[in-house]
Amino acid sequence: MSKAITPIKGMPDIVPEQMPYWHHAEAIVRQVLEEYGYDELRTPMLEKTALFKRSIGDETDIVAKEMFTFESRSGISLSLRPEATASCVRAGISRGLLHNQRRRLYYYGPMFRYEQPQEGRYRQFYQFGAEAYGLAGPDVDAEMILMLARIWSRLQLSGLRLKINCLGSDATRERFTAALQEHFRQHEQQLDPDSQRRLDTNPLRILDSKASQMQALIDAAPQIQNYLGSGERAHFDGILQRLETAGIAYDVEPRLVRGLDYYTGMVFEWQTDQLGAQNAVCGGGRYDHLVRQLGGRDTPAVGWAMGMERLIALLALGNDTIATAVPGVYLVSVGDRAARAGLGLLEKVRDALPGVRMIAHGGAGSFKSQLRAADRSGARFAVIIGDDEVDAKTAGIKSLRGGTQTSVAWDDLVPALQKHIAAET
Ligand code: AMP
Repeated sequence: MSKAITPIKGMPDIVPEQMPYWHHAEAIVRQVLEEYGYDELRTPMLEKTALFKRSIGDETDIVAKEMFTFESRSGISLSLRPEATASCVRAGISRGLLHNQRRRLYYYGPMFRYEQPQEGRYRQFYQFGAEAYGLAGPDVDAEMILMLARIWSRLQLSGLRLKINCLGSDATRERFTAALQEHFRQHEQQLDPDSQRRLDTNPLRILDSKASQMQALIDAAPQIQNYLGSGERAHFDGILQRLETAGIAYDVEPRLVRGLDYYTGMVFEWQTDQLGAQNAVCGGGRYDHLVRQLGGRDTPAVGWAMGMERLIALLALGNDTIATAVPGVYLVSVGDRAARAGLGLLEKVRDALPGVRMIAHGGAGSFKSQLRAADRSGARFAVIIGDDEVDAKTAGIKSLRGGTQTSVAWDDLVPALQKHIAAET
């Protein structure tokens, strides 16, 4: 036997046992997004590297250290997308979806970041995201958050806490950044090497540092709230008021900066204390300059992305099983004649009962071993055919839970199964 090929580090397979959780979560997120009027946009997983450099920012960890980047055959630098907002804007501009329009878009798919893998942090992970273009807020900012609160409640998730902050306009951030630089420069020897580097390149990100020896210094740093202009303040207050009206609890978190450079104005994260270190399930904010920065016209924009692996981990904490919707049927057929007849019969049943899971045993085996396989399959009913049944043109229907068995004529098999299934759902 040759040696098995191992999976790539940080790129998990999602095995069938986990899929009911995924399908359940995916269906609900999609349903809520559609209910709020968001339309799906699918973009490629591969983009020109320049797109991410220009949007997420050269100095961010994501672009500086975490992209899967390679050269195409024609010599262009390409990267697997580390997130999809930049792709949405690129597609929006190049497909003419944004100009003079209000657009509510959503996406779903895998993202790629070369991070140190750990529980809840992977090199391939799935994100659902929503983006709204052409709406200046604060109504749509609040809508983004209300939509997420509805997703949590429909998934029956509790314990998610909303953290929100306002980063202000470019001019505000410039003044704030200068104040931060001055503050941290006075204590440069206390900064860790990452933060020393960021002092020149991206001082805002120092606020995000988890290094324990820097916490007091960070606590003493200037706060963005004191640098906001009256318009920015009013916009942010408008969002908070709308959240209060809707009964959404929040914490204003002056140190919340997020890891992407394109944010302007409001930023937020939904956090949990149930998942250990990887506590952010969803993050987003306003990014009013990105469309222009990527070659479009000035377009107000706001959006978020949620990590599905973390959402599923939360969902699985409270639920041992998420039931598959429709009970299954398992065909047990003993002998070649019965197998042939059974397969034909099953096709007729499939015609009449779309959506019902029907598994043919496939291959030989004794009655007993086939029935054991039927039990293991999770099906609720076995349809049983042997030589006698073929002669009499009948089939047995056995409940795999209760154990009762009835015999029906082939012509009556569909209504009989329908009755059984209706009784079980
Ligand atoms: P971001 O695109 O960095 O704003 O992240 C949005 C959300 O995606 C986070 O709140 C996480 O839930 C999820 N996420 C980000 N990076 C990863 C990763 N490496 N592995 C799993 N989930 C991630």
